[in-house]
Amino acid sequence: MRKLPNIIITGTPGTGKSAHSERLVELMPKMTYVSINKYIKDYSLEDGFDEERQSTMVDEDKLVDLITPDLEEGGRIIDWHVCDIFPESLIDLVVVLRTSTTRLFDRLKDRNYPEKKFIDNMDSEIMEIILNDARESYDPEIVIELYSNDNDDLESNCQRIEGWAKQWIIDNDEGTE
Ligand code: ADP
Ligand code: MN
Repeated sequence: MRKLPNIIITGTPGTGKSAHSERLVELMPKMTYVSINKYIKDYSLEDGFDEERQSTMVDEDKLVDLITPDLEEGGRIIDWHVCDIFPESLIDLVVVLRTSTTRLFDRLKDRNYPEKKFIDNMDSEIMEIILNDARESYDPEIVIELYSNDNDDLESNCQRIEGWAKQWIIDNDEGTE
């Protein structure tokens, strides 16, 4: 059994997944931050380019095969906008970050995405696509929706997640002295 929980930090691009993950590993140095975007590059998991969506396609089967041993070990903070491909039995908490339309608009504008990709991401946030994916793929009890509009949100979210992780460690202690 793993001694540390696995936490997915998900949400529409620009909602603050990477900012939260970086703060979380500062607060919890025993956890390991896994940026899936970086992981895809490191392990060459790109599988073509989707012109319609203006995004890289990913060999998700290979990704899951590669990452499963890490998840079995535990203590991973997974940062990706796709949340529903990981083995359910290995995920302990799914945090779905949400951002107001006006703030997300500004953050995505800063990224200079192609117009279509910009609109698709705004639509995705408004239609709560990732929140619904998370609730369909995992026990809704382990899915939490947190607002990520300003720095106070970021800090309080991370402290809340840290508190949750501490409680998970107590609850899952095998009782060995
Ligand atoms: P994601 O990884 O989900 O695409 P990022 O973490 O890269 O998003 O955040 C996008 C931008 O918005 C970054 O400039 C980041 O600093 C900023 N940001 C994200 N969340 C917050 C927040 N809660 N408060 C203030 N700025 C934020
Ligand atoms: Mn990111």
